[in-house]
Amino acid sequence: MLATILDGRKIRDKAVTELRQAFATISAVPVLAIVQVGDREDTNAYVKAKRNFAEKIGVNTMHTKLPFDISQSSLIEEVKKLKNDQMVKGIIVQLPLPEGINRNAVIDTILPSKDVDAITPPNVKRWADGIQDALLPATAQGVKTLLKEYDIDLQGKKVAVIGRSTLVGKPIASMCLSQNATVTICHSKTVDLKEVTLNSDIIIVAVGKINLITRDHVRAGQVVIDVGINTYEGKKLDDEIVEKKIVGDVDFLEVSKIVGAITPVPGGVGPLTVLSVFQNLLALCNG
Ligand code: NAP
Repeated sequence: MLATILDGRKIRDKAVTELRQAFATISAVPVLAIVQVGDREDTNAYVKAKRNFAEKIGVNTMHTKLPFDISQSSLIEEVKKLKNDQMVKGIIVQLPLPEGINRNAVIDTILPSKDVDAITPPNVKRWADGIQDALLPATAQGVKTLLKEYDIDLQGKKVAVIGRSTLVGKPIASMCLSQNATVTICHSKTVDLKEVTLNSDIIIVAVGKINLITRDHVRAGQVVIDVGINTYEGKKLDDEIVEKKIVGDVDFLEVSKIVGAITPVPGGVGPLTVLSVFQNLLALCNG
């Protein structure tokens, strides 16, 4: 039997009207400032997705695209300008930053009350402490929304979170823990990944490696949440034209024949990450 497809796009689209109405009640149209350094293809795509969604729900965006070789102090100056701009209600600094820039020094410049991504130290402390109404980084919030919409209860479940980055893996693990799951966090040095995944009820993978999770890692009845986004360059049948495709970390075709429910990539967690950015912005505007 094929797995239930956990459709993030459907949930996102359902939330548009509600969000548009909520933002319409705010006296001045809020501005979400997005700071991008360099011209990475994936970052361009993430920024575009946020700007398109902002337009749909009546939020203004201010996109500052800075050169790849900008100095750390100039970047910090740019972020400070936004900190003092009354119209700017939320600030996102797109990560990763180029090598040589101390990301923590830049993040520390973001005012916690405008920290849409919940990555400044006071906000990290709140979600790490499991405070129920803490703002969560958008991807973790997106996973939470997805599970809730599909009535997948985390309490008492064994959850494997694969990936432990500050922006993605750790907040997802923390969110699961705060919902009373028993969480195992895996990373590049985990010795027997299969043993952990096979022993879990829910597998959440956020690594960035094509086919990391194969049919051998899963069993019937599990829920698989694929957070990974990878660009796959395949060849079309004529063997000439290179076709770019977005895939996750899971071998979707094979794994979906075994497990109970699975997110597609694209169309799973990605749309909900974008939605969560604006749910977080709304919370900051009302906060
Ligand atoms: P990251 O900072 O590079 O972290 C990757 C994590 O994967 C690290 O913790 C690393 O372990 C772990 N890892 C690497 N190889 C592994 C292996 N063979 N087995 C187990 N764990 C392994 O990446 P990130 O920013 O967290 O993003 C992860 C993925 O999510 C990327 O594909 C990214 O594009 C995607 N993403 C998706 C969304 C969305 O909305 N869907 C949003 C953000 C990011 P170590 O800590 O030991 O190095």
